Amino acid sequence: MGCRTRFAPSPTGYLHVGSARTALYCWLYARRHEGTFILRIEDTDRERSTQEAVDAIFESMRWLGLDYDEGPFYQTKHFERYNEIAQQLLDRGHAYRCYCSKERLEELREQLSANKEKPRYDGLCRNLTHADPNLPHVIRFKNPQSGTVVFDDLVRGRVEIDNSELDDLIIVRTDGTPTYNFTVVVDDADMQVDTVIRGEDHIANTPRQINILHALGVPIPVYAHIPMILGSDGKRLSKRHGAVSVLQYRDDGYLSQALLNYLVRLGWSHGDQEIFSMQEMIDNFDLHHVSKSAAAFNPEKLNWLNQHYMKTMPPEEVARHLEWQMERLGIDYTQGPAPEKVVTALCDRVKTTVEMAEKARCYYVDTISIDPEAAQKHLIPEVKMPLELLLLKLQDLNDWNAPAIHTLIADVVAQTGIGMGKIAQPLRVAVTGNTTSPSIDVTLELVGKDRAIHRIEAALGTIK
Ligand code: GLU
Repeated sequence: MGCRTRFAPSPTGYLHVGSARTALYCWLYARRHEGTFILRIEDTDRERSTQEAVDAIFESMRWLGLDYDEGPFYQTKHFERYNEIAQQLLDRGHAYRCYCSKERLEELREQLSANKEKPRYDGLCRNLTHADPNLPHVIRFKNPQSGTVVFDDLVRGRVEIDNSELDDLIIVRTDGTPTYNFTVVVDDADMQVDTVIRGEDHIANTPRQINILHALGVPIPVYAHIPMILGSDGKRLSKRHGAVSVLQYRDDGYLSQALLNYLVRLGWSHGDQEIFSMQEMIDNFDLHHVSKSAAAFNPEKLNWLNQHYMKTMPPEEVARHLEWQMERLGIDYTQGPAPEKVVTALCDRVKTTVEMAEKARCYYVDTISIDPEAAQKHLIPEVKMPLELLLLKLQDLNDWNAPAIHTLIADVVAQTGIGMGKIAQPLRVAVTGNTTSPSIDVTLELVGKDRAIHRIEAALGTIK
């Protein structure tokens, strides 16, 4: 039987690329072991959870192609179950009601910090015998007071924590709502999760969660805590470093395959292989080769991978992404060349589909603006005659394609003695508005006959 993993995001904003990597690792692990991948929305923090954030999780996962086998489960729908388990823990003496006031706890904290000790509950209510459940109280888990919690993290290795370091965790608040560590434990147990793969920021919670699982008498999953992603300055990757939201990468023109390939390698290795198809990721992913140390996000490498996929994926496939971007930029991609031709022409020259769409604009619109500097430099009297000659030939050309256009330009070069570059640059400025584009014959083909003729005429009109 395969394993059971879960991805358990809290819907409090966009889906961070770090969370996406966690999701990817959970998903790959499940797929590799023919297991089950569960999606659980940890929305108990009602103040910070939003429907928009839930939608962003779904949309991000759909875009990345990380399909789940069970779920989505919502923790806010499991409150009854959490209460039931809390009661069970109370009944079995694994939990107790605590009536300590805010003031008392505050005082305790101050005392401990004055003695330079870690803040922890002193267990005053642990042995109360005649407590009235109608008075305001929280429910605390009775953490073992001696011994150690040990687990073999699949990434970090053996982790050992003294129970004396842990205090009696609140599992239900005064208002009756369950706390984070408690809901995770109940759900992991109910969902029979046997492999917990999550960010290293949760490693301090694990010993507490294991103690509660023991008290519930359920099996303890294996844990794999994966290191954080850092920005270029060594601090945890955040908005300050640039885009961190998965959907932002989509909108910025990255292919999901490139982002996945980038994320899988960010903290995991398989020899020195850099390029992975989805199937190769599934076939090779293992937690033992996840690095212990934090990885730094490298935007250049992501760009490199994105370009790699734009160049190697079937152009028709990349074209669908390009069309989506053009639509977003308000470019009507039906009014010009087949987008796959644009992909083939531009994939070497751009890093993202957004850049591609922007460069492709001149092939699809009727009016372009000419860079004045480029015009001044290249649309000069000495090119007027060769351009006029070429214009006549182009007007007669019926089969509008790059090789045919190339022949005509070569004819003009031969007839007038102007250098190839000397005529290509003014042409480029005339038909695209600036000085960089694919080879001039391909550019003219993409611009199309009517627009090209019209633009060359207009350019000629500006030369004195
Ligand atoms: N909800 C937690 C988070 O988004 C994850 C908890 C877990 O994986 O155990 O960070």
